Amino acid sequence: MKFYSLNKKSPKASFEEAVINGIAPDKGLYFPEKISSLPKAFFANIEQFDNHEIAYQLIKQFVGDEIPEGSLRAIIKDTLNFDFPLVNIEKDVFTLELFHGPTMAFKDVGARFMARCLSYFNKNSDQEVTVLVATSGDTGGAVASGFLGVKGVNVLILYPSGKVSKVQEKQLTTLGLNIKALEVEGTFDDCQKMVKDAFMDTEITDKIKLTSANSINVARWLPQMFYFAFAYKQLANKSKKLIFSIPSGNFGNICAGMMAHRLGLPVGQFIASTNSNNVVPIYLETRKYNPIKSIQTISNAMDVGDPSNFIRIQKIYNNSFNKLKKHLHSYSFTDYETRDAMLSIFKKDKYIADPHGAVGYLGLKKYMKSSKNSQGIFLETAHPVKFLEVIEPVIKQTIDYPPQIQEVINKRKKATFIRSYDEMKTFLLG
Ligand SMILES: *Cc1c(COP(=O)(O)O)cnc(C)c1O
Repeated sequence: MKFYSLNKKSPKASFEEAVINGIAPDKGLYFPEKISSLPKAFFANIEQFDNHEIAYQLIKQFVGDEIPEGSLRAIIKDTLNFDFPLVNIEKDVFTLELFHGPTMAFKDVGARFMARCLSYFNKNSDQEVTVLVATSGDTGGAVASGFLGVKGVNVLILYPSGKVSKVQEKQLTTLGLNIKALEVEGTFDDCQKMVKDAFMDTEITDKIKLTSANSINVARWLPQMFYFAFAYKQLANKSKKLIFSIPSGNFGNICAGMMAHRLGLPVGQFIASTNSNNVVPIYLETRKYNPIKSIQTISNAMDVGDPSNFIRIQKIYNNSFNKLKKHLHSYSFTDYETRDAMLSIFKKDKYIADPHGAVGYLGLKKYMKSSKNSQGIFLETAHPVKFLEVIEPVIKQTIDYPPQIQEVINKRKKATFIRSYDEMKTFLLG
């Protein structure tokens, strides 16, 4: 399979090149040249297939023959070694729990798949690759865990000091081996700028082979299709109109859901639920796309003022505003509404939602008010334990550490504190 750059000023790339480059030389996002739907019978009979088979059928056309079937199946099996339960919390309202992986966020799926693809492509090379990644919290942990112990790959994570949750910080800084963390005096934007500058700095790139592991990489984006199909498989009643509400920041997750729909997954409606970073809801209302400087909220993994995957979403709908508007609704919610939703879900449904999931719930409920004979699924993108500081004061109850967290929480943090780009560069070259 070939991928082309959505900026159209770069040569086409193979899957391997797209995974290794991350972004095209013209700074465009890679997009598959051709998309083929799967046979209707596949979705009609989905209950007969196990998750690994479903994943293989969804991804194989994008990988093509660049990874042989046996190896691709092994990568999938290794990636998906945890569950994706669909939990019924109210009549016709379900949540898809995507937090049963090693770092308890949905990003585990993309990060684990990408790490294994990179390792496959790097297996005959003796040059080491350094994955450089900036994180506002969840990405760093998932990438660190996904790449831990992967041969030929070093990982350097930059995170803003004092701006990630305690659990997240432990996940970034306690693994050791090929994973190193830099604690940056500054914001997430500062971290991201340092990463971008490093890619442009020939004094670095002449010596070190750099790659990124952010959500625009096709090997992180596409495997996120899998769990939309796993959710569908688990639905008892498949005749009602199905609505997916996705708490969205960079819009990679929802874009993967739309790709699954493009392959034939029966979805009636997508809802992009956002916090106060409401560029997309405003766009769908006014047709004007105006990026903003990101606003800080309690659902901080979605604090994105210019969602990078939105351009892929437009492409999936052939850049037709009307088509897009038919399939996608988008609503924005304040922190006040989000806290209120967490409390009411806890009291009414006896369920603890994290702030991101709560935003997804709000979007789903808003749409379902005017949609008859439908059922909805909102994605729970992270385990509540990752956002203890926000949730516990709202529900006035403590949240116990699951085993994955227990394991890291008492380990000693190891990070190098830096104040400037030059300090990062010295660390990288040293
Ligand atoms: C990254 C993240 C999101 C946003 O996902 P996108 O693909 O960037 O839209 C939502 N919730 C959590 C918990 C996240 O970590």
